[in-house]
Amino acid sequence: MIKIGVFGASGRVGKLLIDDLKATSGVSVSSVYVRNNLDFSIDPSVLVTSAMHSFLNACDIVIDFSLPEACETLLEEAIRTPKPLVIGTTGLNTHQLNLLKDASELMPILYATNMSLGVALLNKLVYQASSALKDFDIEIVEMHHKHKKDAPSGTALTLSESAAAGRGLDINKVRVSGRDGNIGERKKDEIAVMALRGGDIVGRHTVGFYNDGEFIELSHTATSRNTFSKGAIRAASWLINKEAGLYSISDCLELE
Ligand code: NAD
Repeated sequence: MIKIGVFGASGRVGKLLIDDLKATSGVSVSSVYVRNNLDFSIDPSVLVTSAMHSFLNACDIVIDFSLPEACETLLEEAIRTPKPLVIGTTGLNTHQLNLLKDASELMPILYATNMSLGVALLNKLVYQASSALKDFDIEIVEMHHKHKKDAPSGTALTLSESAAAGRGLDINKVRVSGRDGNIGERKKDEIAVMALRGGDIVGRHTVGFYNDGEFIELSHTATSRNTFSKGAIRAASWLINKEAGLYSISDCLELE
């Protein structure tokens, strides 16, 4: 039985994760980190704590769906108390990403801006299309619910990296995240990543390849957050016995 520590338990994904863990054989929730109190009831055998050290000691592996600042504190403590980590939090800044890389020298970490199988495959298809359709303009649109805090989504940024990699471009030099005013014509290499927010949309990503006379759009729509929580459980079961290192969702799904 793999003992899972849940970080971000009272969030939209965290709550579903706890339900999915209960319904999955071979795994159990052993500890939950809370800042104050847990706003729902949980089996009394689960350690509910705001002491990070105790939280980590009570589990075999952590699944994190929280916020960047919270993830940062988790990584800082994990460096002192190494533990396999599945990180799903998006919007990490450069310092937090570097911390994640440093921590992965001490423990196995799977970091995925999207835990779904469909998006993992979409990244492969985007790389392939970008490489094959060199003259096509690439534009990415993502849509999420009105409560989402980071923009563009981590998934859209990862897709833009796949698109840039397909052409040997540095995404940091070609990414555009807004157009307003008299900005002139589109530059050939630019890759736009635009964010729309509204209602309860779980997540929709479209990567378009546009040329004169034709275009292709590759789209993925998440219709349920269980896609992410179940994907994270699959990732945790895969990661648990791995060597220290930084792993991706493609590694876990063994996508060629
Ligand atoms: P949410 O706002 O509903 O939940 C955030 C959680 O973080 C809450 O439990 C909150 O209590 C906790 N938290 C906030 N600040 C904290 C702190 N300082 N210390 C400890 N805990 C703290 O968000 P959500 O919709 O559940 O999404 C959580 C994260 O997961 C976001 O970054 C989101 O973009 C990301 N996400 C990733 C995937 C994926 O597949 N990788 C899918 C969906 C969402």
